[in-house]
Amino acid sequence: MARYTGPVCRLCRREGEKLFLKGEKCNKGVCPITIRNMKKKGLQPGQHADARRRQMSEYGLQLREKQKAKRIYGVLETQFRNYYDEAVRIKGITGENLLRLLELRLDNVVYRMGYGRSRTEARQVVRHNLIRVNGKKVNIPSYQMKKGDVVEVKESATDYQRFKDILDVTSGRGVPAWLDANPDRLTGVVTALPSRDQIDIQIHETLIVELYSK
Ligand code: SF4
Repeated sequence: MARYTGPVCRLCRREGEKLFLKGEKCNKGVCPITIRNMKKKGLQPGQHADARRRQMSEYGLQLREKQKAKRIYGVLETQFRNYYDEAVRIKGITGENLLRLLELRLDNVVYRMGYGRSRTEARQVVRHNLIRVNGKKVNIPSYQMKKGDVVEVKESATDYQRFKDILDVTSGRGVPAWLDANPDRLTGVVTALPSRDQIDIQIHETLIVELYSK
């Protein structure tokens, strides 16, 4: 599946806010958005974006929200549209269904469990055949996880320095309540499907639904 391979921080600059696409760099002073906000004295993070948003048309707001969600989860347009179509089909609130489908991607679950510093790194870990789901090799980042699914880093990779480095960064991050992770064994379980209040991304999913339902 194709993915965006251009400069990552540019995506945040386009949205005027931090999308946390680069792992630990995003929380340090080297983040260009943080630097920019510090340079503009008195300007709070996202304030610029707020001003720009106030001038935006309804369509513009909806479009930007969709772009933000695509960028955070690293999904291109066609695949994102497929997620939306599936969200409509499933019972429940479409916007919440959409975010749940995105959260249940295998690369996102690996990231949320702390086995990738960013979603991009988690995707790479999956692609490199380092992940097992219910004991079977799965190297498809978009693989949809279900309640009860068990994730493991393949046994021969658990000693890799890479995972030690990853855990050094992610150990203080916390794991969402719908997942149970065991970093000592590099395993985890999807114990429930995530509810909206357990998905901590700043997205107004109703705007995305409005955009697609025109
Ligand atoms: Fe770059 Fe992360 Fe800052 Fe975004 S939040 S601009 S990805 S360092």
